[in-house]
Amino acid sequence: MRSGPSGPPGSPEDIGALDALGALDALGAPLTLEDLSGLDGPVDRRRLEEALRASENRFRAAFVDAGIGMALVDRDDVIIEANPALAEMLGHTVPELMRMHIHQLMDVEERARHLYRQLVRGERDRVRLEKRLRHRQGHAVWTNITVSLIRDSTGEPLYTLAMVEDVSEARRLGDRLHYQSMHDPLTGLPNRALFFERLADACAEADQRIGLCFLDLDGFQAVNDTLGHPVGDELLVGVARRLEQRFSPRGHLVARVGGDEFAVLVPRSAGAEELTALAAEVVEVLGTPYDLAGQRVAATASVGVVERPVSGSSPTVLVRDADATLCWAKSDGRSRWALYDPERIATQMTRQVLATTMRPALERGEFLLEYQPLVELATGRLQGVEALVRWRHPEFGRLAPDRFIQIAEETGAIVPLGHWVLEEACRQTRAWLDHFPDAQLLVSVNLAARQFRDSDMVADVAEVLGHTRLPSRLLQLELTESAVMGPAGRPVQALHALDAMGVRIAIDDFGTGYSNLAYLSRLPVHVLKLAKSFVEGFRSELDGDETPREAVDEKIVTALVRLAHVLGITVTAEGVESAGQAERLRLTGCDSAQGWHFGKAAPAEEITRLLGRG
Ligand code: C2E
Ligand code: MG
Ligand code: MG
Repeated sequence: MRSGPSGPPGSPEDIGALDALGALDALGAPLTLEDLSGLDGPVDRRRLEEALRASENRFRAAFVDAGIGMALVDRDDVIIEANPALAEMLGHTVPELMRMHIHQLMDVEERARHLYRQLVRGERDRVRLEKRLRHRQGHAVWTNITVSLIRDSTGEPLYTLAMVEDVSEARRLGDRLHYQSMHDPLTGLPNRALFFERLADACAEADQRIGLCFLDLDGFQAVNDTLGHPVGDELLVGVARRLEQRFSPRGHLVARVGGDEFAVLVPRSAGAEELTALAAEVVEVLGTPYDLAGQRVAATASVGVVERPVSGSSPTVLVRDADATLCWAKSDGRSRWALYDPERIATQMTRQVLATTMRPALERGEFLLEYQPLVELATGRLQGVEALVRWRHPEFGRLAPDRFIQIAEETGAIVPLGHWVLEEACRQTRAWLDHFPDAQLLVSVNLAARQFRDSDMVADVAEVLGHTRLPSRLLQLELTESAVMGPAGRPVQALHALDAMGVRIAIDDFGTGYSNLAYLSRLPVHVLKLAKSFVEGFRSELDGDETPREAVDEKIVTALVRLAHVLGITVTAEGVESAGQAERLRLTGCDSAQGWHFGKAAPAEEITRLLGRG
């Protein structure tokens, strides 16, 4: 086929970029004279020639006027036909393109050859390639090329027909969209998506260390609320600029990963010192005031730092740990950095596990009570026991209450747990009363503030006393001062009701909190339990060579005991570890005591044995 003037122009829409090939298929490959030469018989040669010309014209029209570039290429990769659209696309004229070798326009790599061979073998009808063509002026033209094969009458490949679509614009748009999808429009920084992409890249590098700083502006919400969102936005831009100027030149990635959260990624870290120094720099560089819209705005940032070998690390774990570390920096007092600490995270995770498993554990019976003797100092008589809860954890072993009581308060699990403790303690004490009626042993049960807030303590206590048949005078309830006075619990009314019921109220750990005896005197309080820290001052024997602190403690305790007695309150000393302490406490007038000297917390059977000895 030759090039030449076109026949009647076809409408360009006929050959839209996408269905160009389909349209050509419909036209069929041009008939050739060879096709006709083998024909014998009563053939109307004139009509055939006309048909042939019409076919050629239609083909030429479609080819020449097509809106997309087209070329016919022979088996030596030489262009034998090209259309104006292709010529224009590549900055050549049609005659220039003819006889050009396709290698002058593009690189033909092995994959393309492979696809071509498949085409020749008939394994494919057509091949689509995304190729970079060379414009005459040297720049690249990105194209989608669809190649199909035209065969002669014997089926041998004759030409390839290439349809070439210029996708440079789409590609530029795609690049721009990609860029936009990877950057934060406000600050222009890489966004969370790009940050994760780079983080994954960094994690894929073998034998490297990686460092990550997660930072968050302290009190950003307040800036938004008081100065308005435009100022808040400006502040974020200011922060972004400072971080970028300081850290991007070093090859670190600075990204905005959330509202007021930024990240600095150090893909090849030299060690934890590099990262903590960097974190200190972040705190410093962000801590100087910002001039925003004519105002000076102060801001600070908190930083969580993670630094570790890449091996065995994953982007999700790194980010999780950096996030947790950032929370520590915040809770440790803001405007500071914190370095990831595996022990701290383990504690935190254990806390979480404990928090979620506490209620089912209660149902499975994993909690138990131990009882610590309360002894009358004047006589040495066993007056009562304090019930202390323990958790027999299937995984962590035996847990002391300081591991889980606070968590139980936070989650609210203290309400069912506390109810179980009360019930079990009263049941056990009733059993002791049944076996040893003369002992009149009382039980002291610890209550948490939240139990007053979230449950009807008065009704609960009445109900438990009712069905365990324990006399109310044998039940003592321990509350801390903060539970009585803090904003969380105002169980004052409940205390009066419990008092009316005949239950004793003790203030636990007195001396560690408000120590407000004047206030407590207005409440129905029967017992003060002096905190162990007070009793520590009574360490030495009665030998006179006491330290000033011990002397002061002793004076305070003596005064306290006197005052309590004036108010009709008895005093129990906690944490008594030696006979000397016990004796000196007795001399101050302390009524009773509790501590290792008299007995550690022990299972109920131990107390039963004690009672049995009389
Ligand atoms: P607490 O009520 O002040 O209990 C006294 C704590 O001091 C107990 O620790 C006890 O074993 C310990 N202790 C007793 N004598 C001595 C001594 O001579 N030396 C020393 N170093 N320690 C002594 P435990 O059992 O670990 O209980 C800790 C805290 O847990 C309790 O302090 C109490 O506040 C809380 N708690 C325990 N059981 C319960 C409960 O059922 N409900 C609530 N709400 N809190 C509980
Ligand atoms: Mg107690
Ligand atoms: Mg105590």
